[in-house]
Amino acid sequence: MTNKISNLFKVKYPIIQAGMIWNSGWKLASAVSNQGGLGLLGAGSMYPDVLREHILKTKKATDKPFGVNLPMLYPDIEKHIETIIELQVPIVFTSAGNPKTWTQILKNEGITVVHVVSSAKFATKSQDAGVDAVVAEGFEAGGHNGRDETTTFCLIPDVKRKIEIPLIAAGGIATGRQVAAAMLLGADGVQIGSRFAATYESSSHNRFKEMIVNTDEGGTELTLKELAPVRLIKNEFYQEVVQAYEKCATKEELIELLGRARAKKGMFEGDLVNGELEIGQVASLIDSVVSVEEVFNEILSEIRNLDFGFQKDFI
Ligand code: NDP
Ligand code: NDP
Repeated sequence: MTNKISNLFKVKYPIIQAGMIWNSGWKLASAVSNQGGLGLLGAGSMYPDVLREHILKTKKATDKPFGVNLPMLYPDIEKHIETIIELQVPIVFTSAGNPKTWTQILKNEGITVVHVVSSAKFATKSQDAGVDAVVAEGFEAGGHNGRDETTTFCLIPDVKRKIEIPLIAAGGIATGRQVAAAMLLGADGVQIGSRFAATYESSSHNRFKEMIVNTDEGGTELTLKELAPVRLIKNEFYQEVVQAYEKCATKEELIELLGRARAKKGMFEGDLVNGELEIGQVASLIDSVVSVEEVFNEILSEIRNLDFGFQKDFI
C-alpha cells in the first residue's frame, strides 16, 4: 500500500466519509469502514451519552478503523474528548476552530489527528500545530464553510504547494471522476459528504434524503456569513433569510431568525419548510438514495475504468 492516506488510517481506500451532524451516526460510519473507507461519526449533533453509544455501536458493527469529527464550537467538547480517549477511538477530525487547542492532547494519547480547513493559510497553521493530515474543503461543500468562497479547484493545488503533510480534498466530490480530479490536483485522498448523506445508512430523515435527490443546479447557497457561513438548500427557511437580508437585518436579528436546533429540525426530523437543510452543490449530481456499498461500487468502478486519453491532444 503506497497511498499516504490509506497508510495513515490503515484503510483500503483513501476515501473518507464526512462526519456530518445528524447524518453520520454509527450505521453510516461502520458501513463506510466495512467497505474499506474511513467512516466518521458526526459528534457535533450528539450529546455526550449519545456519542458514547454511537462509538460502542460502531465498534460492534466493524473491526475496521473509524473516527470522530469534533467541531470545536461544540459546547461540551471536554466531555467528548474524555469519551474519545476512554473508548480509544483511533482517529479524530477536528473542525471549526483552532487546531492548537486539542491536537497535542489527543496525539499524546496515540490518536491520529486531522484538521478541516477552507484556506491554505489555515492548512499551514494546522501543520504547525502538529496535525497528521489536513482536509481542505472548497466552497462547493455543504454545511459550514469558509467565508472566502475558494473553490476546491483553486484550493487544493494551493494547499498542496504549502504543506508537506498528507492532504485530503473535500467539497464537490461525489463521483469517481471527481475523486480522480481531486487526486490530479494534488490530493492524497478525498472526504465525501453529500453523497453519503443520501444513503440508506445515513441517520437523517428520509424526507431530507429525497430533498437532496431533488436538488438541482443552483439549488443551494452559502449564506449567513455574519454568523457561521453555511451552505443551505433554498427552502422556505432560506427564503426567510433572503428577506431578512433585503430588510438589512442586523446580526442580532439574524441570530434570532436562525434560533436553535434548525439543523436537527430539517435534517433529522424532516421539517423541509422550517429546517436548515445543509448539503453541497454536488447534490445536483445525486439522483437516488442508495446503499453505502453501491456508492463504493460506483466510485471505484468509475475510477478503475478511467482512460486519460486526452494527453495525446496536447502533443
Ligand atoms: P444549535 O445551537 O442551533 O443547536 C444545538 C443542537 O445540537 C441541538 O439540536 C441539540 O440537540 C444538539 N446538541 C448535541 N449536543 C449538545 C450539547 N451538549 N449542548 C447543546 N446542544 C447539543 O446548533 P446547530 O444545530 O447549528 O449545530 C450543532 C453543532 O454542530 C454545533 O456544535 C456546531 O458547531 C456543529 N456543526 C458543525 C459543522 C461542521 O463542523 N462542519 C456543521 C454544522 C454544525 P437537541 O435539539 O436535541 O437539544
Ligand atoms: P441509533 O440507535 O444509532 O441512535 C441512538 C441515539 O442516537 C438516539 O438517541 C438517536 O436519536 C441518536 N442519533 C442517531 N443518529 C444521530 C446523529 N447523527 N446525531 C445525533 N444523534 C443521533 O439510531 P437509529 O438510527 O437506530 O435510530 C434511532 C431511532 O431514531 C429510531 O427509532 C429511528 O426510527 C429514529 N430516527 C428518527 C429520525 C427522525 O427524524 N425522527 C431520523 C432517524 C432515526 P433519538 O433519541 O432521536 O432516536
